[in-house]
Amino acid sequence: MKTLFEKIYDGEIPAEILHKDELCCAFADISPQAPTHFLVIPRKAIPRLGEATPEDQSLLGHLLLTAGQVAKKLGLSETGFRTVINHGTHGGETVPHLHIHVLGGRQLDWPPG
Ligand code: AMP
Repeated sequence: MKTLFEKIYDGEIPAEILHKDELCCAFADISPQAPTHFLVIPRKAIPRLGEATPEDQSLLGHLLLTAGQVAKKLGLSETGFRTVINHGTHGGETVPHLHIHVLGGRQLDWPPG
């Protein structure tokens, strides 16, 4: 069965797509926690970061590069942005398909809650 984010990648569930290529896509988060909040997901259904394998090394790099490029395209480079990957219960993960959050457009607090 496809994950929610595989369905978004495949266009079966609507989303505001910001970038799509053969390995990943970026789309606006449905419940934004900052003026700009988007997710970068791999096409491959890796459940979470800790389950990625060495064979995913270049894919993981591609996801990070895409996060930075889309952030730049959206004008976040100068003011700054944050990337977050939640793994498991304590991490706050709710969708079991690896995703990088990118948040920007306001001052973000540290440490996170
Ligand atoms: P996490 O809690 O790290 O697993 O993040 C999951 C994120 O997916 C949350 O920020 C949700 O708001 C977001 N999300 C869930 N469903 C959708 C959807 N259909 N379209 C866009 N974002 C979604």
